[in-house]
Amino acid sequence: MISISFPLFVAIYLAMFLAGVLILWLGYEWVRRRQAKRTARNHVFCRICGSRYTDKSFLDVLDCPVCGSWNERSS
Ligand SMILES: [Zn+2]
Repeated sequence: MISISFPLFVAIYLAMFLAGVLILWLGYEWVRRRQAKRTARNHVFCRICGSRYTDKSFLDVLDCPVCGSWNERSS
């Protein structure tokens, strides 16, 4: 059996735990950004009245159906 000292065991355990947390964090962040990029193209947030609406046209400037002001696409 491999014998290691207790402080080395704690250091290795902590390093593996932090590496696991980092990998999970990066994975969830990657999934979240991919979903946000997919949905952000169609959802527009009005800067004047604060309403959100969906528009699937290819225009870059859209008029709000609630207040009528022009908004740029966010992405
Ligand atoms: Zn509006």
